[in-house]
Amino acid sequence: MNKLSVNDLNVKSQRVLVRVDYNVPMEEKDGKMIINDTTRIKETLPTLLMLTAKGAKIILAAHLGRPKGKREPSMSLRPVANKLSEMIGRPVAFAEDCIGDPAEKAVAALKPGDILLLENVRYYNEEEANDPAFAEKLARLADLYVNDAFGAAHRAHASTEGVPRVIARRGGQCAAGLLMERELQFLGRELEKPARPFVVILGGAKVSDKIKVIDRLLELADTILIGGAMAYTFKLAQGFKVGKSLSEPDKQDVARAAMDKAKARHVQFLLPSDNIIGTPVDTGKLNKKGKPIIEIQNPQTNQGPDIPAEAEGLDIGPETARRYCEIILKANTIIWNGPMGMFEDARFAEGTNAVARAVAEATARNGAKSIIGGGDSVKALNQAGLGDKVTFMSTGGGASLEFLEGRVLPGVAALSDKSP
Ligand code: AMP
Repeated sequence: MNKLSVNDLNVKSQRVLVRVDYNVPMEEKDGKMIINDTTRIKETLPTLLMLTAKGAKIILAAHLGRPKGKREPSMSLRPVANKLSEMIGRPVAFAEDCIGDPAEKAVAALKPGDILLLENVRYYNEEEANDPAFAEKLARLADLYVNDAFGAAHRAHASTEGVPRVIARRGGQCAAGLLMERELQFLGRELEKPARPFVVILGGAKVSDKIKVIDRLLELADTILIGGAMAYTFKLAQGFKVGKSLSEPDKQDVARAAMDKAKARHVQFLLPSDNIIGTPVDTGKLNKKGKPIIEIQNPQTNQGPDIPAEAEGLDIGPETARRYCEIILKANTIIWNGPMGMFEDARFAEGTNAVARAVAEATARNGAKSIIGGGDSVKALNQAGLGDKVTFMSTGGGASLEFLEGRVLPGVAALSDKSP
Protein backbone atom coordinates (compact mmCIF):
# COMPACT_ATOMS: atom_id res chain seq x y z
CA MET A 1 0.00 0.00 0.00
CA ASN A 2 1.96 2.95 -1.28
CA LYS A 3 -0.09 6.07 -0.85
CA LEU A 4 0.61 9.57 -2.08
CA SER A 5 2.29 11.81 0.49
CA VAL A 6 1.55 15.47 1.16
CA ASN A 7 5.19 15.95 0.09
CA ASP A 8 4.22 14.85 -3.43
CA LEU A 9 1.51 17.50 -3.87
CA ASN A 10 1.86 20.78 -5.69
CA VAL A 11 -0.12 22.88 -3.23
CA LYS A 12 0.79 26.46 -4.12
CA SER A 13 -2.35 28.62 -4.08
CA GLN A 14 -4.47 25.45 -4.02
CA ARG A 15 -7.34 24.93 -1.58
CA VAL A 16 -6.29 21.91 0.49
CA LEU A 17 -8.82 20.24 2.78
CA VAL A 18 -6.88 18.64 5.65
CA ARG A 19 -8.73 16.14 7.87
CA VAL A 20 -7.16 16.39 11.32
CA ASP A 21 -7.85 14.69 14.65
CA TYR A 22 -8.77 17.54 16.99
CA ASN A 23 -10.96 15.41 19.23
CA VAL A 24 -9.22 16.92 22.28
CA PRO A 25 -10.30 16.50 25.91
CA MET A 26 -12.10 19.64 27.13
CA GLU A 27 -13.80 20.77 30.29
CA GLU A 28 -15.92 23.75 31.28
CA LYS A 29 -14.35 26.33 33.58
CA ASP A 30 -16.14 29.58 34.47
CA GLY A 31 -18.51 29.13 31.53
CA LYS A 32 -15.67 28.62 29.03
CA MET A 33 -14.46 25.41 27.39
CA ILE A 34 -10.81 24.75 28.25
CA ILE A 35 -8.59 22.28 26.37
CA ASN A 36 -6.92 19.89 28.82
CA ASP A 37 -4.42 18.26 26.49
CA THR A 38 -3.07 19.83 23.28
CA THR A 39 -1.08 16.79 22.06
CA ARG A 40 -3.38 16.14 19.10
CA ILE A 41 -3.08 19.76 17.95
CA LYS A 42 0.69 19.72 18.34
CA GLU A 43 0.97 16.58 16.26
CA THR A 44 -0.57 18.27 13.21
CA LEU A 45 1.87 21.20 13.24
CA PRO A 46 4.53 19.63 10.96
CA THR A 47 1.99 19.09 8.17
CA LEU A 48 0.42 22.51 8.64
CA LEU A 49 3.74 24.37 8.79
CA MET A 50 4.86 22.63 5.64
CA LEU A 51 1.61 23.49 3.82
CA THR A 52 1.67 27.16 4.86
CA ALA A 53 5.33 27.45 3.83
CA LYS A 54 4.41 26.10 0.39
CA GLY A 55 1.57 28.62 0.02
CA ALA A 56 -1.44 26.31 0.34
CA LYS A 57 -4.84 27.63 1.38
CA ILE A 58 -5.50 25.31 4.29
CA ILE A 59 -9.01 24.24 5.27
CA LEU A 60 -9.10 22.05 8.38
CA ALA A 61 -11.94 19.61 9.00
CA ALA A 62 -12.36 17.72 12.27
CA HIS A 63 -14.87 16.25 14.71
CA LEU A 64 -15.19 16.81 18.42
CA GLY A 65 -17.12 14.50 20.74
CA ARG A 66 -20.45 12.98 19.84
CA PRO A 67 -22.94 15.80 19.23
CA LYS A 68 -25.16 13.34 17.30
CA GLY A 69 -26.09 15.75 14.53
CA LYS A 70 -26.95 18.71 16.81
CA ARG A 71 -25.17 22.07 17.21
CA GLU A 72 -24.04 21.34 20.76
CA PRO A 73 -22.13 24.50 21.92
CA SER A 74 -19.85 22.58 24.31
CA MET A 75 -18.57 20.61 21.30
CA SER A 76 -17.70 23.61 19.15
CA LEU A 77 -14.20 23.62 17.65
CA ARG A 78 -13.84 27.39 18.15
CA PRO A 79 -11.56 27.02 21.21
CA VAL A 80 -9.36 24.73 19.13
CA ALA A 81 -8.97 27.43 16.45
CA ASN A 82 -7.75 29.85 19.14
CA LYS A 83 -5.36 27.28 20.62
CA LEU A 84 -3.99 26.31 17.20
CA SER A 85 -3.41 29.96 16.37
CA GLU A 86 -1.44 30.36 19.61
CA MET A 87 0.61 27.22 18.93
CA ILE A 88 1.39 27.84 15.26
CA GLY A 89 2.00 31.57 15.73
CA ARG A 90 -0.33 32.85 13.01
CA PRO A 91 -4.03 33.67 12.70
CA VAL A 92 -6.45 30.77 12.26
CA ALA A 93 -9.85 31.72 10.83
CA PHE A 94 -12.96 29.88 11.98
CA ALA A 95 -16.10 29.07 9.98
CA GLU A 96 -19.32 28.72 12.01
CA ASP A 97 -20.42 25.86 9.79
CA CYS A 98 -18.48 23.18 7.93
CA ILE A 99 -20.59 23.45 4.76
CA GLY A 100 -22.75 26.02 2.98
CA ASP A 101 -22.44 29.79 2.93
CA PRO A 102 -20.32 30.41 6.07
CA ALA A 103 -17.76 27.80 4.97
CA GLU A 104 -17.70 28.85 1.31
CA LYS A 105 -17.28 32.56 2.14
CA ALA A 106 -14.47 31.80 4.61
CA VAL A 107 -12.68 29.66 2.03
CA ALA A 108 -13.06 32.34 -0.66
CA ALA A 109 -11.31 34.82 1.67
CA LEU A 110 -8.22 32.61 2.12
CA LYS A 111 -4.89 33.76 0.73
CA PRO A 112 -1.91 31.44 0.13
CA GLY A 113 -0.54 30.31 3.51
CA ASP A 114 -3.77 31.07 5.40
CA ILE A 115 -5.45 28.56 7.72
CA LEU A 116 -9.17 28.07 8.32
CA LEU A 117 -10.79 25.63 10.74
CA LEU A 118 -14.31 24.47 9.94
CA GLU A 119 -16.89 23.86 12.68
CA ASN A 120 -17.41 20.29 13.98
CA VAL A 121 -18.35 18.01 11.06
CA ARG A 122 -20.39 15.87 13.47
CA TYR A 123 -22.90 18.69 13.89
CA TYR A 124 -24.35 16.82 10.89
CA ASN A 125 -25.54 13.20 11.14
CA GLU A 126 -24.58 12.96 7.47
CA GLU A 127 -20.90 12.91 8.51
CA GLU A 128 -21.03 9.52 10.24
CA ALA A 129 -23.56 8.22 7.69
CA ASN A 130 -21.02 9.07 4.95
CA ASP A 131 -23.84 10.78 3.09
CA PRO A 132 -22.82 11.43 -0.56
CA ALA A 133 -24.58 14.84 -0.79
CA PHE A 134 -22.85 16.03 2.41
CA ALA A 135 -19.48 14.75 1.12
CA GLU A 136 -20.08 16.71 -2.11
CA LYS A 137 -20.72 19.90 -0.11
CA LEU A 138 -17.51 19.49 1.87
CA ALA A 139 -15.51 18.53 -1.21
CA ARG A 140 -16.74 21.68 -3.00
CA LEU A 141 -14.51 23.68 -0.65
CA ALA A 142 -11.23 22.17 -1.90
CA ASP A 143 -9.01 21.21 -4.84
CA LEU A 144 -6.81 18.72 -2.96
CA TYR A 145 -7.27 16.51 0.11
CA VAL A 146 -4.88 15.49 2.88
CA ASN A 147 -5.69 13.06 5.69
CA ASP A 148 -3.60 13.50 8.84
CA ALA A 149 -6.17 11.95 11.19
CA PHE A 150 -4.98 8.37 11.56
CA GLY A 151 -7.14 7.96 14.68
CA ALA A 152 -10.28 8.42 12.55
CA ALA A 153 -9.11 6.47 9.47
CA HIS A 154 -10.82 3.23 10.49
CA ARG A 155 -14.21 4.89 10.08
CA ALA A 156 -15.79 5.33 6.65
CA HIS A 157 -17.26 8.76 7.37
CA ALA A 158 -17.82 11.62 4.93
CA SER A 159 -14.74 13.61 5.95
CA THR A 160 -12.48 10.54 5.97
CA GLU A 161 -13.81 8.51 3.04
CA GLY A 162 -16.56 10.27 1.09
CA VAL A 163 -14.72 13.54 0.48
CA PRO A 164 -11.47 12.03 -0.89
CA ARG A 165 -13.56 9.83 -3.20
CA VAL A 166 -15.34 12.93 -4.60
CA ILE A 167 -12.11 14.90 -4.97
CA ALA A 168 -10.36 11.96 -6.66
CA ARG A 169 -13.30 11.54 -9.04
CA ARG A 170 -12.85 15.18 -10.03
CA GLY A 171 -9.20 14.48 -10.80
CA GLY A 172 -7.85 16.00 -7.55
CA GLN A 173 -5.12 14.27 -5.58
CA CYS A 174 -5.64 12.87 -2.09
CA ALA A 175 -2.59 12.31 0.10
CA ALA A 176 -1.45 11.18 3.54
CA GLY A 177 -0.28 13.93 5.90
CA LEU A 178 3.11 13.64 7.62
CA LEU A 179 1.60 12.17 10.79
CA MET A 180 -0.49 9.65 8.84
CA GLU A 181 2.59 8.70 6.77
CA ARG A 182 4.53 7.79 9.90
CA GLU A 183 1.65 5.64 11.13
CA LEU A 184 1.53 3.78 7.82
CA GLN A 185 5.29 3.37 7.91
CA PHE A 186 5.64 2.06 11.46
CA LEU A 187 2.45 0.03 11.84
CA GLY A 188 2.65 -1.18 8.24
CA ARG A 189 5.82 -1.22 6.13
CA GLU A 190 8.30 -1.58 9.02
CA LEU A 191 6.58 -4.79 10.10
CA GLU A 192 6.74 -6.48 6.73
CA LYS A 193 10.38 -7.51 7.26
CA PRO A 194 11.05 -6.94 10.97
CA ALA A 195 14.57 -7.23 12.39
CA ARG A 196 14.60 -10.29 14.67
CA PRO A 197 14.02 -11.21 17.41
CA PHE A 198 10.59 -9.63 17.00
CA VAL A 199 8.86 -9.44 20.38
CA VAL A 200 5.20 -8.52 20.80
CA ILE A 201 3.87 -7.43 24.19
CA LEU A 202 0.11 -7.52 24.56
CA GLY A 203 -1.94 -6.54 27.56
CA GLY A 204 -5.16 -4.76 28.42
CA ALA A 205 -8.57 -5.84 29.49
CA LYS A 206 -10.00 -8.30 27.02
CA VAL A 207 -8.86 -11.13 24.77
CA SER A 208 -11.89 -10.48 22.56
CA ASP A 209 -10.62 -6.94 21.72
CA LYS A 210 -7.21 -8.19 20.66
CA ILE A 211 -7.68 -11.71 19.33
CA LYS A 212 -7.44 -10.61 15.68
CA VAL A 213 -4.19 -8.75 16.42
CA ILE A 214 -2.84 -11.80 18.24
CA ASP A 215 -3.79 -13.98 15.30
CA ARG A 216 -2.01 -11.75 12.78
CA LEU A 217 1.07 -11.17 14.95
CA LEU A 218 1.40 -14.93 15.56
CA GLU A 219 2.35 -15.04 11.89
CA LEU A 220 5.09 -12.43 12.25
CA ALA A 221 6.54 -12.52 15.77
CA ASP A 222 9.16 -14.71 17.44
CA THR A 223 7.79 -14.15 20.93
CA ILE A 224 4.48 -12.95 22.36
CA LEU A 225 4.35 -11.79 25.97
CA ILE A 226 0.88 -11.62 27.49
CA GLY A 227 -0.08 -9.44 30.46
CA GLY A 228 -3.09 -7.51 31.73
CA ALA A 229 -6.46 -9.00 32.58
CA MET A 230 -6.33 -10.68 29.18
CA ALA A 231 -3.84 -13.18 30.61
CA TYR A 232 -6.52 -14.64 32.91
CA THR A 233 -8.66 -15.90 30.04
CA PHE A 234 -5.59 -17.78 28.77
CA LYS A 235 -4.99 -19.09 32.30
CA LEU A 236 -8.59 -20.31 32.50
CA ALA A 237 -8.12 -22.07 29.16
CA GLN A 238 -5.08 -23.83 30.63
CA GLY A 239 -7.22 -25.06 33.54
CA PHE A 240 -5.91 -22.72 36.24
CA LYS A 241 -8.02 -20.81 38.78
CA VAL A 242 -8.28 -17.03 38.39
CA GLY A 243 -10.39 -16.10 41.44
CA LYS A 244 -12.22 -12.82 40.90
CA SER A 245 -9.86 -11.62 38.13
CA LEU A 246 -11.38 -9.92 35.11
CA SER A 247 -11.67 -12.66 32.49
CA GLU A 248 -13.86 -13.89 29.66
CA PRO A 249 -14.81 -17.52 30.36
CA ASP A 250 -16.70 -17.71 27.06
CA LYS A 251 -13.50 -16.86 25.13
CA GLN A 252 -11.48 -19.82 26.36
CA ASP A 253 -11.76 -21.62 23.03
CA VAL A 254 -10.39 -18.56 21.23
CA ALA A 255 -7.52 -18.37 23.73
CA ARG A 256 -6.79 -22.09 23.31
CA ALA A 257 -6.75 -21.75 19.51
CA ALA A 258 -4.20 -18.92 19.76
CA MET A 259 -1.95 -21.02 22.01
CA ASP A 260 -2.25 -23.97 19.61
CA LYS A 261 -1.34 -21.74 16.69
CA ALA A 262 1.69 -20.44 18.60
CA LYS A 263 2.85 -24.01 19.21
CA ALA A 264 2.36 -25.01 15.57
CA ARG A 265 4.30 -21.96 14.36
CA HIS A 266 7.03 -22.29 17.00
CA VAL A 267 6.24 -18.86 18.42
CA GLN A 268 7.23 -18.48 22.07
CA PHE A 269 3.95 -17.58 23.82
CA LEU A 270 4.36 -16.57 27.46
CA LEU A 271 1.84 -16.01 30.24
CA PRO A 272 2.51 -14.57 33.72
CA SER A 273 3.93 -17.07 36.20
CA ASP A 274 3.21 -14.80 39.18
CA ASN A 275 0.83 -11.90 39.80
CA ILE A 276 0.11 -8.98 42.07
CA ILE A 277 -3.29 -9.66 43.52
CA GLY A 278 -5.72 -7.70 45.69
CA THR A 279 -9.01 -8.36 47.47
CA PRO A 280 -11.99 -6.46 46.07
CA VAL A 281 -14.21 -5.14 48.87
CA ASP A 282 -17.61 -3.52 48.35
CA THR A 283 -17.61 -0.19 50.24
CA GLY A 284 -21.43 -0.03 50.24
CA LYS A 285 -21.15 3.39 48.54
CA LEU A 286 -22.25 4.28 45.02
CA ASN A 287 -20.37 6.36 42.45
CA LYS A 288 -21.88 9.21 40.39
CA LYS A 289 -23.25 6.67 37.89
CA GLY A 290 -24.94 4.70 40.68
CA LYS A 291 -22.49 1.81 40.50
CA PRO A 292 -21.05 0.25 43.71
CA ILE A 293 -17.59 1.53 44.65
CA ILE A 294 -15.22 -1.43 45.02
CA GLU A 295 -12.02 -0.90 46.97
CA ILE A 296 -9.01 -3.13 46.40
CA GLN A 297 -7.39 -4.12 49.67
CA ASN A 298 -4.38 -6.11 50.72
CA PRO A 299 -2.19 -5.98 47.57
CA GLN A 300 0.40 -8.76 47.56
CA THR A 301 2.45 -11.02 45.31
CA ASN A 302 0.87 -14.34 44.42
CA GLN A 303 3.35 -17.06 43.44
CA GLY A 304 2.24 -19.87 41.20
CA PRO A 305 -0.41 -20.13 38.53
CA ASP A 306 -3.63 -20.28 40.62
CA ILE A 307 -5.22 -17.16 42.13
CA PRO A 308 -7.15 -17.57 45.41
CA ALA A 309 -10.95 -17.54 45.12
CA GLU A 310 -11.47 -14.19 46.95
CA ALA A 311 -8.63 -12.37 45.13
CA GLU A 312 -8.23 -10.54 41.81
CA GLY A 313 -5.08 -10.49 39.65
CA LEU A 314 -4.23 -6.86 38.93
CA ASP A 315 -0.63 -6.84 37.65
CA ILE A 316 2.09 -9.22 36.53
CA GLY A 317 4.36 -10.24 39.41
CA PRO A 318 8.09 -9.43 39.84
CA GLU A 319 9.29 -12.80 38.50
CA THR A 320 7.17 -12.40 35.34
CA ALA A 321 8.33 -8.78 34.92
CA ARG A 322 11.98 -9.91 35.21
CA ARG A 323 11.47 -12.70 32.64
CA TYR A 324 9.60 -10.44 30.20
CA CYS A 325 12.20 -7.64 30.50
CA GLU A 326 15.04 -10.08 29.80
CA ILE A 327 13.34 -11.04 26.54
CA ILE A 328 12.52 -7.43 25.63
CA LEU A 329 16.15 -6.40 26.14
CA LYS A 330 17.24 -8.92 23.49
CA ALA A 331 14.66 -7.80 20.92
CA ASN A 332 15.38 -5.89 17.73
CA THR A 333 11.76 -5.13 16.90
CA ILE A 334 9.11 -4.55 19.58
CA ILE A 335 5.39 -3.92 19.38
CA TRP A 336 3.59 -3.08 22.58
CA ASN A 337 -0.17 -2.72 22.95
CA GLY A 338 -1.98 -2.70 26.29
CA PRO A 339 -0.84 -2.33 29.91
CA MET A 340 0.36 -5.27 32.01
CA GLY A 341 -2.06 -4.46 34.83
CA MET A 342 -4.42 -1.89 36.28
CA PHE A 343 -1.64 0.71 35.94
CA GLU A 344 -3.87 3.68 36.81
CA ASP A 345 -3.50 2.54 40.44
CA ALA A 346 0.15 2.94 41.51
CA ARG A 347 -0.02 -0.29 43.51
CA PHE A 348 -0.57 -2.22 40.28
CA ALA A 349 1.61 -0.18 37.89
CA GLU A 350 5.03 -1.72 38.46
CA GLY A 351 4.68 -4.48 35.85
CA THR A 352 3.69 -1.93 33.19
CA ASN A 353 6.45 0.46 34.28
CA ALA A 354 9.09 -2.30 34.21
CA VAL A 355 8.06 -3.20 30.66
CA ALA A 356 8.10 0.51 29.69
CA ARG A 357 11.67 0.87 31.04
CA ALA A 358 12.83 -2.28 29.23
CA VAL A 359 11.31 -1.13 25.93
CA ALA A 360 13.04 2.26 26.30
CA GLU A 361 16.34 0.60 27.19
CA ALA A 362 16.20 -1.85 24.27
CA THR A 363 15.61 1.14 21.99
CA ALA A 364 18.49 3.22 23.38
CA ARG A 365 21.01 0.45 23.98
CA ASN A 366 20.42 -1.99 21.12
CA GLY A 367 18.82 0.31 18.59
CA ALA A 368 15.69 -1.83 18.67
CA LYS A 369 12.73 -0.44 16.76
CA SER A 370 9.98 0.03 19.35
CA ILE A 371 6.46 0.67 18.16
CA ILE A 372 3.75 1.48 20.67
CA GLY A 373 0.31 0.60 19.37
CA GLY A 374 -1.69 3.49 20.79
CA GLY A 375 -4.22 3.82 23.60
CA ASP A 376 -3.27 2.99 27.18
CA SER A 377 0.33 1.90 26.47
CA VAL A 378 1.01 5.43 25.24
CA LYS A 379 -0.55 6.79 28.44
CA ALA A 380 1.56 4.41 30.55
CA LEU A 381 4.80 5.37 28.78
CA ASN A 382 4.06 9.07 29.17
CA GLN A 383 3.16 8.50 32.82
CA ALA A 384 6.57 6.85 33.28
CA GLY A 385 8.23 9.84 31.52
CA LEU A 386 9.49 7.60 28.70
CA GLY A 387 7.29 8.84 25.85
CA ASP A 388 10.24 10.20 23.87
CA LYS A 389 12.42 7.13 24.43
CA VAL A 390 10.68 4.83 21.95
CA THR A 391 10.83 4.79 18.15
CA PHE A 392 7.16 5.46 17.51
CA MET A 393 3.94 5.95 19.45
CA SER A 394 0.76 5.57 17.45
CA THR A 395 -1.87 8.30 17.75
CA GLY A 396 -4.72 5.89 17.04
CA GLY A 397 -6.47 3.56 19.48
CA GLY A 398 -9.02 1.56 17.51
CA ALA A 399 -7.37 2.52 14.22
CA SER A 400 -3.96 1.16 15.34
CA LEU A 401 -5.50 -2.14 16.39
CA GLU A 402 -7.40 -2.52 13.13
CA PHE A 403 -4.30 -1.63 11.11
CA LEU A 404 -2.17 -4.11 13.07
CA GLU A 405 -4.83 -6.74 12.37
CA GLY A 406 -3.94 -6.25 8.71
CA ARG A 407 -7.26 -4.64 7.86
CA VAL A 408 -7.56 -1.99 5.16
CA LEU A 409 -8.66 1.28 6.78
CA PRO A 410 -11.30 3.10 4.68
CA GLY A 411 -9.62 6.48 5.27
CA VAL A 412 -6.34 5.10 3.94
CA ALA A 413 -7.86 3.17 1.05
CA ALA A 414 -9.50 6.39 -0.20
CA LEU A 415 -6.15 8.14 -0.68
CA SER A 416 -4.48 8.23 -4.09
CA ASP A 417 -1.90 5.55 -4.87
CA LYS A 418 1.64 6.65 -5.60
CA SER A 419 2.37 6.10 -9.27
CA PRO A 420 4.94 3.31 -9.71
P1 AMP B 1 -7.29 -2.01 26.85
O1 AMP B 1 -8.10 -0.81 26.52
O2 AMP B 1 -7.90 -3.30 26.41
O3 AMP B 1 -5.84 -1.88 26.42
O4 AMP B 1 -7.31 -2.12 28.44
C1 AMP B 1 -6.74 -1.17 29.27
C2 AMP B 1 -7.36 -1.24 30.61
O5 AMP B 1 -7.22 -2.55 31.12
C3 AMP B 1 -6.74 -0.31 31.61
O6 AMP B 1 -7.71 0.59 32.05
C4 AMP B 1 -6.28 -1.23 32.74
O7 AMP B 1 -6.55 -0.70 34.02
C5 AMP B 1 -7.11 -2.46 32.53
N1 AMP B 1 -6.45 -3.66 33.06
C6 AMP B 1 -5.27 -4.17 32.72
N2 AMP B 1 -4.98 -5.25 33.46
C7 AMP B 1 -6.00 -5.42 34.33
C8 AMP B 1 -6.29 -6.36 35.36
N3 AMP B 1 -5.44 -7.34 35.63
N4 AMP B 1 -7.45 -6.23 36.02
C9 AMP B 1 -8.31 -5.23 35.72
N5 AMP B 1 -8.10 -4.32 34.78
C10 AMP B 1 -6.96 -4.40 34.08
